Amino acid sequence: MNNYIVRFIPLGGIVGVTKNMYVYELYKLKVKTPSFAKASEGREKLKVNVKNTRINPEEYKLQDILIVDCGIGFPEAREMGVDFVIPDIDYLKDKTDKIRAILLSHGHEDHITALPYHYDALGKPPLYTSKLTGAFIQNKFKEFNKTPNVQIVEYGKQYQFGGFRTQFINITHSIPDAMHILINTPVGNFYHGPDYKFDLTPPYGKGPDFYAITKAGHDGVLCLLSDSLGAEREGLTLSEAIVGKTFEDEMRTCKGKFIMTTFSSNISRINQCVEAAIKFNRKIVFLGRSMKENTDLAKDIGYLR
Ligand SMILES: [Zn+2]
Repeated sequence: MNNYIVRFIPLGGIVGVTKNMYVYELYKLKVKTPSFAKASEGREKLKVNVKNTRINPEEYKLQDILIVDCGIGFPEAREMGVDFVIPDIDYLKDKTDKIRAILLSHGHEDHITALPYHYDALGKPPLYTSKLTGAFIQNKFKEFNKTPNVQIVEYGKQYQFGGFRTQFINITHSIPDAMHILINTPVGNFYHGPDYKFDLTPPYGKGPDFYAITKAGHDGVLCLLSDSLGAEREGLTLSEAIVGKTFEDEMRTCKGKFIMTTFSSNISRINQCVEAAIKFNRKIVFLGRSMKENTDLAKDIGYLR
């Protein structure tokens, strides 16, 4: 019998590229013997099969909340005039004193961009993330004249948030510094694995930490939450490294201006284009506000030449 319950709530939904925001709640038993245990007492003492027993939430007290990601979503065709959508946090409004931290998995818009809108209403909890994602977040808050409490995490180190113990795992994605999160709870381990692809030759940073992933599996995972575009298809997606070679091949034969478009957060791809441009002695111009901001920021922290 467990004295704890963990509830998992995807506040922004779980399908498609959309307002990622996940809530983990840890509840602790208030009374010594819950009603379902009393009912079975005598028959088999306190040996209760929790799986087949209805748990009365009234007998449990919310102890800690951990949030993973806080991103924007994109409007549907019928939502004319809407630029983007953000998760509805009404559910959390009377529980903000229980929020221990928000963990941010990587710097894509659908994982961090709703933060400045909700940060105050969530009670300004500390934000734990990687270096590049942290820099993107600081920059987003600047527009709102706010300074968030950002803590840059170390991979492999353990962090305690109330009854949740977490460890951050280095993973590869189309943006550098992406992380998976192993969350140990009193009821079992959750492997929270947002957007990733296994890139064995990433253009920036280390490859996926297969050791940490394997160890998590070996130690036992109660619940795996995994999100990888195209995961239903067999085989491996090509490494991001192939993009650098493609830039070189195209620039070699391109007589005039070479124009490349990408998400401004795709720092590793921008870096690959910059490296190719330097190789072919081309002048480089960044166009667009967020492209300029993000490349400046990436240069400042040494992620771009
Ligand atoms: Zn992503």
